[in-house]
Amino acid sequence: MENKSCTKCGLEKPLTEFYKRLGDTTAKCKICIKSEMKERYVANPEKDKEYSKKNIENFTQIKVKNILNNTVRTIQKKRKSPKLNGTLKTQTMKKNVVKEDVKKIHISLHGVIL
Ligand SMILES: [Zn+2]
Repeated sequence: MENKSCTKCGLEKPLTEFYKRLGDTTAKCKICIKSEMKERYVANPEKDKEYSKKNIENFTQIKVKNILNNTVRTIQKKRKSPKLNGTLKTQTMKKNVVKEDVKKIHISLHGVIL
């Protein structure tokens, strides 16, 4: 089996101990790359956390915005549609539509965060 020297620890190891990248093996062995990644995380764990938190927040905001826009559009459509059987029934229908959409917003919010 072919061996290769790691540029970090200097140990000669079989090629299976190196990651493959773009058809070639990495200069450092798997163990060294893993420990470097761990060191980087330990040195600055907040950076990774903040990054993912920001992404979730952005994603949630966009989703809520879309749902709110859809809700407004749905209500506007309902308003334009002709009255079916008097005002009372139409008002009840509107209320139900809003309730359903509020539920959708809750589900999407909690679903994303959890
Ligand atoms: Zn190594």
